[in-house]
Amino acid sequence: MSATIIDGKAFAARIREQVAHEVSRLTAEGVTPGLAVVLVGADPASEVYVSHKHKATVEAGMNSFEHRLPAETSEADLFTLIDRLNADPEVHGILCQFPVPAHLDERRTVARIDPSKDVDGLSVTNAGLLATGGDALVSCTPLGCLMLLRDRLGDLTGREAVVIGRSNLFGKPMAQLLLRESCTVTVAHSRTKNLPEVCRRADILVAAVGRAEMVKGDWVKPGATVIDVGITRVPHPDKPGKTRLIGDVAFAEARETAGAITPVPGGVGPMTIACLLANTLTACCRAHGLAEPEGLTA
Ligand code: NAP
Repeated sequence: MSATIIDGKAFAARIREQVAHEVSRLTAEGVTPGLAVVLVGADPASEVYVSHKHKATVEAGMNSFEHRLPAETSEADLFTLIDRLNADPEVHGILCQFPVPAHLDERRTVARIDPSKDVDGLSVTNAGLLATGGDALVSCTPLGCLMLLRDRLGDLTGREAVVIGRSNLFGKPMAQLLLRESCTVTVAHSRTKNLPEVCRRADILVAAVGRAEMVKGDWVKPGATVIDVGITRVPHPDKPGKTRLIGDVAFAEARETAGAITPVPGGVGPMTIACLLANTLTACCRAHGLAEPEGLTA
């Protein structure tokens, strides 16, 4: 039987509605959550991401503060801006769009952001809080995957989970989140031996590599829930000059074996911005000592 397709787009729309509802409640009490996005340089893909984030933030009723800096901005000038945003009570979330130009250092940039405003969850403080069971701000894409998994499976306790990929941005926080849910977690990577065999034991298989259709149908345990995070842009087979997005999972094959699977596009992707808004709301509630809305945090 063919797998259930997990509709991340619809789920993300529900999260965004919930966030907007909570924002209107807060605004009525005189507090409006605010997200500051910093873009250094004019990378075309980053420009698109930043404008999507701005639009979504405004649609949720939050304040959006965009800071576009020239590519040659020095670290000192970037840090002056970040320090100003850290101190600004109207700014609850700060996100520096990566990649930054080569003369700037991503780690140092993240470290400059106040961890309580680090809505990307990339700081050492938030990674440490996540690993040690504290109230972290969690990286948006893994948080979105967790929400999809909880929605699909309910209690995740005791399930075998395999995460392919060990990046700080995705694989590691995803593994930590699944561990927190009491899954038995395996993190696979480019040096993993017998990867198909490792994947075949997963009740939950999360692929975040960036290699188109690497995970074949026979790597999937019958009935497993498959979350495809990978995105590769390839030439469109039918439309010359156009491109399309392909996931890490060979979708047509895998859906014959899986119990449920996210498509690409329309699966994990839309959850990332929804979780950025959720994190900004959470950061705002924490800053003001207000109750955090349910279902929007890890
Ligand atoms: P990354 O930093 O490049 O990490 C990729 C991971 O895949 C690494 O841990 C790497 O292992 C592993 N890997 C590479 N080749 C492999 C192989 N043959 N077998 C097993 N593992 C292999 O990428 P990322 O930032 O985590 O992102 C991963 C993918 O998710 C990308 O396609 C990205 O575009 C996508 N993504 C999507 C969203 C979204 O939907 N919003 C958000 C974030 C990421 P090593 O560590 O051993 O090198």
